[in-house]
Order: sequence, then structure tokens, then C-alpha cells
Amino acid sequence: MEKITFAADGRPIVPDHPLIPYIEGDGVGPDIWAATRPVLDAAVARAYGGARGIEWFEILAGEKAYQKTGQWLPEATLEAIRDYGVALKGPLATPVGGGIRSLNVTLRQVFDLYACIRPIRFIPGVPSPMKAPEKVNMVVFRENTEDVYAGIEWAAGSPEAIKLAEFLQKELGASVKSESGFGIKIATEQGSKRLVRRAIRFALDHGRKNVTLVHKGNIMKYTEGAFRAWGYEAAREFGGQVITEAEAADRFGGRPPQGVVVIKDRIADAMFQQVLLRPDEFDVIATPNLNGDYLSDALAAQVGGLGLAPGANVGDRAAIFEATHGTAPKYAGLDKINPGSVILSGAMMLEYMGWIEAADRIRSALTQTIAAKNVTYDLARQIEGAREISCSAFGREIVSRIGS
Ligand code: NAP
Repeated sequence: MEKITFAADGRPIVPDHPLIPYIEGDGVGPDIWAATRPVLDAAVARAYGGARGIEWFEILAGEKAYQKTGQWLPEATLEAIRDYGVALKGPLATPVGGGIRSLNVTLRQVFDLYACIRPIRFIPGVPSPMKAPEKVNMVVFRENTEDVYAGIEWAAGSPEAIKLAEFLQKELGASVKSESGFGIKIATEQGSKRLVRRAIRFALDHGRKNVTLVHKGNIMKYTEGAFRAWGYEAAREFGGQVITEAEAADRFGGRPPQGVVVIKDRIADAMFQQVLLRPDEFDVIATPNLNGDYLSDALAAQVGGLGLAPGANVGDRAAIFEATHGTAPKYAGLDKINPGSVILSGAMMLEYMGWIEAADRIRSALTQTIAAKNVTYDLARQIEGAREISCSAFGREIVSRIGS
């Protein structure tokens, strides 16, 4: 049994035949996994001719786990992810009632998966509201553990909220109404810098031209503004490999040499219009949690929506690759849903493992399948002349196009 381990800087060290756990997921999860696994296996087999391969094993979470073990997220599942480091995950329903926290959020916290990474790239043939969707090719690094998502909040009128209001008024002289509800926004130097470093390292490793810090620091000076300041500090650690926008203009007339990454920043509201009007000016985005949540969905919509949007939650000792959509319960078991989001998340996982050749084969075969207009219902209803095929057939079409 071979395991993925991690270098001190968080990079994965991947054996040729790693064991990788997967969570099938709830709702449409089993349909999607059945279509996805053959695609990933075929791509690896054809790229490396048996020299590399994945040994999959199932771990339980969500409804299936609850039925079999009485727990939504069994300890054995957490142990497997801790042990094997990398996992692929289908969508999980957030149990309603019973006070159980979102399993997705729990996984992010338990493994300190501080970077939510979402590549947003146009696939030719996918319907898009943009005039030139091919100009959209960005990777969002969203901070995943801080900001208003840290869960520090109290309802208006609760004893805690009243006490906090009193403390703010009396001890800190803040003007705040006693009947306020509170949600505390937090940002730390360590949390901001590790996210920005990861984004910069990605840009350097992948020949990307720029990293943009997206923040609302003009208003929230000590959280979003601090994120910006710490981001620039983190950039300076990379020496001459990373330069500011001003340096790029002064020293290179705005055209820095190949291999140099430009770090810049934009205020969040301005950024939403810039990614619509001039999307080709942005490569990699690093941003606090809430901005990243909004921005990554808005960007996904520019290139055709969530059905084909992959994602990953990555830390220094674990990474979970996952569908960005939910369990779509009304389609469960119908073999109908689009498996593209999990297939592309699998390709991201292969890329993260350094198995670039296999990842490229998947993206190319999926692009060809869409170009041939053999697509699941969600795309078929928007593409003229398309042939609607099932979830499993879509997987088979991709497998048939994976080159050797
Ligand atoms: P959803 O499951 O994403 O589904 C909403 C709609 O989006 C579907 O009815 C479908 O639209 C479309 N859709 C979603 N996935 C698709 C795919 N693969 N292919 C084509 N179309 C797709 O959102 P929800 O109904 O709000 O959430 C259901 C459950 O999922 C909740 O329990 C939620 O907590 C959970 N959830 C989990 C995750 C996760 O595990 N990461 C993320 C989000 C939500 P049409 O009806 O128009 O065809």
C-alpha cells in the first residue's frame, strides 16, 4: 500500500501507485462516481501505460455513512483522509435538523484546508452569457478558514449579543446599538500569507502572468486591508520572481519577462466589473473567504455555470477535490446528471499530484465530447442540435476520446 505524503512546504510526494480514498456522495453522487472513475482510470492508463495507477477505496460520509454506521462522518473516514492525504469527494447533503454542521465545512476545518481553489476556464461549445468567453481563464484561491465564516456570531437579543454590545460601548467606546446581532470578521497574518503564498507558487509553477489580491480594504481596513498588506509582504518573499504592477510598468514598460509574476490588487466591487469587461487581464486571484465565495460563482457563470466547475480544498497536509454543485436530489439514481464537475475535479487532483499528462487528456477528451454535441440534459437544453445522453454515456464518450 503506497501513500501520498507531504514535503515541508505542503507539496505532495506521490508514489506511482497511490491509494486514494473517495466519497461517493449523496443524491446524484453514485451516478456521478460511476461515470467518473472509468474516465480517471482510462486517462492514467493511457498516459502512463501501467507505470502509474490509482488504487481507489471507498470511505463513507453523508447519508450512506449514516445508514451503515449511524454517523454522518465516521472517525474511520477522517482517519483515512488523515492517513492518505488526498481524497475525491462527491456532493454531500447538509442534514436538515438535528443541529448537524455542514459536513463540507467540517472537513475543511478538521484538515485545515485553507485554500479553496476553483479554476474557471471556458470550454468551447458550452453556452455562455459572455461575448468572448474564451478570454476567461482564471484560478481563484479563496481563503477557506477565516473571515465571517469562522462561525463567531450571535443573534440579536441573545445574552451574548447584549453582553458584547455592552462591552463595545463601555470598554471600547464604540457606537453600537444594544439590539444588534453580531457576526465577527477575522483575518490573521498567518492565514492571509499562507493563502497568498500558495496562489503565487501556483502562478510561478504554471507560467501564469499575474496574481490579483481582491479585497474591500478601503472599508474594512484591519481585515480586508490587512489581507492586502500581508499579501504584498508574502509576495516580497519570492524576490525578483514577483514584482508589483508599478514595478512592471517602470522597469519593463508593462511587459515583464516570461517567468515573472506581477502582483496587483483590486477592490472587490471594481473587480466584479473588471472580470466582465477585461477578463483576460486576470490570471490568478487570491482573496478572503466571502469575496471568494461570491466571485468564484460569478466567474463560473461567465463560462456556463456550476455543472462543469471543478474545485478543491487544499491544506498543507491534505487535499480534498470535490464537486462544486450539490446533491441535486431530484435526479438521484436517474443516470441523468452532468458528471463534468467531478470529472474535472479528478483532473485537478491528477494535476496536483503532478500527473499532468493524464489531467490534460481528460480535459481534451471532455472538450471534444462537448464539441461533438453529445451532452447531458443540462447542456443539451441550451445547445442547438445537441444529442442528449445519460450521465454514464457522457462518461463513456469521454473515455472513447482519451488519446493514448
Ligand atoms: P444543487 O444540488 O447544486 O442543485 C440545484 C440545481 O442545480 C439542480 O436541480 C440542477 O438544476 C443544477 N445542477 C446541480 N448539479 C448539476 C449537475 N451535476 N449537472 C447539471 N445540473 C446540475 O443545489 P441544492 O438543491 O441547493 O442543494 C442540494 C443539497 O446539496 C443540499 O443538501 C446542499 O446542502 C448540498 N450541497 C452540497 C455541496 C457540496 O457537497 N459541496 C454544495 C452545494 C450544496 P436543474 O434542476 O435546472 O436541472
